[in-house]
Formats: sequence, structure tokens, C-alpha cells
Amino acid sequence: MRLQHAAAALIAAGCAFAANDAAAQGTLNLYCSVQVEWCQAIATNFQRDTGIRVNMTQRGSGESLAAIRAEGQNPRADVWFGGTGDPHLAAAEENLTQAYESPNNAQLQPWALRQWEQSGRRAIGVYAGAVGFGYNTELLQRKGIEPPRCWSDLTDPRFRGEIQVANPNSSGTAYVIIATLVQLMGEDQAFDYMRRLHPNINSYARSGTGPIKAVARGETGISLSFVHDAVTERNAGFPVSYTTPCEGTGYEIGSMSILRGARNLTQARRFYDWALTAPAQRLGFEAGGQLQTPSNRSAPLPPNAPDLSQIRLIEYDFAKYGRAAERRRLIERWDREVGSLP
Ligand code: PLP
Repeated sequence: MRLQHAAAALIAAGCAFAANDAAAQGTLNLYCSVQVEWCQAIATNFQRDTGIRVNMTQRGSGESLAAIRAEGQNPRADVWFGGTGDPHLAAAEENLTQAYESPNNAQLQPWALRQWEQSGRRAIGVYAGAVGFGYNTELLQRKGIEPPRCWSDLTDPRFRGEIQVANPNSSGTAYVIIATLVQLMGEDQAFDYMRRLHPNINSYARSGTGPIKAVARGETGISLSFVHDAVTERNAGFPVSYTTPCEGTGYEIGSMSILRGARNLTQARRFYDWALTAPAQRLGFEAGGQLQTPSNRSAPLPPNAPDLSQIRLIEYDFAKYGRAAERRRLIERWDREVGSLP
């Protein structure tokens, strides 16, 4: 009798522990600015690995920054995963995110840690990728159009209405492209170039990945995109190829930040540590078909991913172009001088 009683007490205690344990794992509110397939994969796998329930919202980098600014006094998210590095730096400067040092920092590439140091330890690199030209090989061949090799080619009348790029208000990719042109040409020349390019642009898409998907579907011949996204479309069976500009090109350090005032700080740090591990970074390719360069040194470069060491990269000035005021100024100038053109 006494034994039975003890067993029942143990079972009850066990149940209570299990219930408490599940509840104790808690919830994580995640803003995610990579492609939705990858966002879903990290949410599902983190939840499975830790028991922490994930509420994920996917948006472009510029849109996530706008939401985080609007919610600054009452943050709805705990962690912001992915998206181009400049808006993460702007968020750090505006005190919208908080400093954290992960025990997994030691596993990361130097460029990922440079982003962390430059942001006052508030943003860390999770992947890198270069800007270039994606194009539909069949469409261009059918129209007899030679693919572009250089930035200077793009303003050629043979590309009239054939190029798609994103809008920098919503897309981090588009902002990296503007900052790249400014660094390559000088600011006034870059804006003059973008105005001359405008007749060849058929649409300024909301998301940075929209234009390469339009290339894959044959809706546009050429996109200005991160070149790893062109390989993703080619791997999915579309007639897509890419080149990187002969004059040199810019790149992103896709980043991650914990929000200031995060309500689920323990879960946020647990996610942050997890997202820096090699197995979590492999998910980008394995579950999401993504081909960025991972920041964990033990996470392999996915097969056929663009090799950044083989691309002519500019010395992208992340400190300058990640500054909130500079980002705002350049986007406002783009709105006035390019985005508003008929
Ligand atoms: N998706 C992928 C695969 C990316 O590499 C990036 C850049 O960080 C983004 C999305 C960001 O998209 P957007 O330009 O809409 O901010």
C-alpha cells in the first residue's frame, strides 16, 4: 500500500515535472528576414531541438527594421534573424537591439565577428553573399541579348525594360546595391547612373528575392540580386545563370540581433547560440536550399555556392553605410531622384 502510494506520488510528480518542463521552455518571438523556406526550417528545427515554441514573422530587412522601430517602446519580437547587415547596424545605433556575447563566437569567421564588434556587440554575422546579375539564359538567348558583364553594360538600350531590382525602402538587398554603386562611382555619379538605368528597369520589387524569382519564371530577363539566390533557382531547375560585375561588387553580412526589451531573453539567447552552430547553419542549404556563405567555420560552403574569394569584392564600408542617418539619407535621395521617375 505504502509502495503504491509512493509510486502514485512519483508518477504525479513526474507528470507535474513534465508539464512544468514544457511550460518552462517558453516561447520565442522571431522576426526573420531570409527566404521563407529557411525561416520555417529554423523555426521548426529550433522548436524540435529545445521544446521552445517559436512564433515567426518573415519580412524583408527594411520592413523588419521599420516594424522594430515602430515597436521600439514595446517590442513584439525577441530576436531578428537574417537580412542584410546594414539595417542591423542601424538598429544597434538606434539602441533598438542589445549586446550579447555568445559562447559560440569562437566558432565564427572573422567577418562575422567584425560585424559584432562594429555594432557594439549587438549584431553578429550569420552568412555572407555578393551582389551580381541573375539572368534567364533561355529568355536572353531567344531575344538575342548578350548577358551583362559589367555595371556599365546595364544602361545599354538592349536591356530596355529587361531588368528588375528591389525597392530600398523595403529591401536590404536594394540598399546594398545603392551603397555599392555609391562606393564604386561616387555618390552623384551613382545617382546619375541609377537615373540612366531607370528606363531599363521594369519594376522595383518589394522583396530582394522577388526579382530573381521573376527571372526564374521568365517574367524578366535580368535581376540585380545576391548571386547565391541565382544558384538556388538554377538548382530548382530553372534556366538561370549569373555573373558578378567586372568593376567589382558589394556584399552583405547577413546578421542576427536580440531586441532591446526582449520579453523572452533566456529563449532569445538560446536561439542566438543555436543559430551560430554548424548544424543550424547547414539548415540554410539542407532545408531551405540557400547558398550563402555560412559564418560558422565548420559549416561547409554548400555545393556550387558562389565562392566569395573568387569574386571581385569592394572594401564595403559597413560602418558608414550601416549608419542610420546615412541609410535614411540615401534612401530618401533614391525616392526623390529615382523611385519617383515615371
Ligand atoms: N533572402 C535571402 C536569401 C537573402 O540572402 C537576403 C539577404 O540578406 C534576403 C532574403 C533579404 O531580403 P530583402 O532584400 O528583401 O531584405
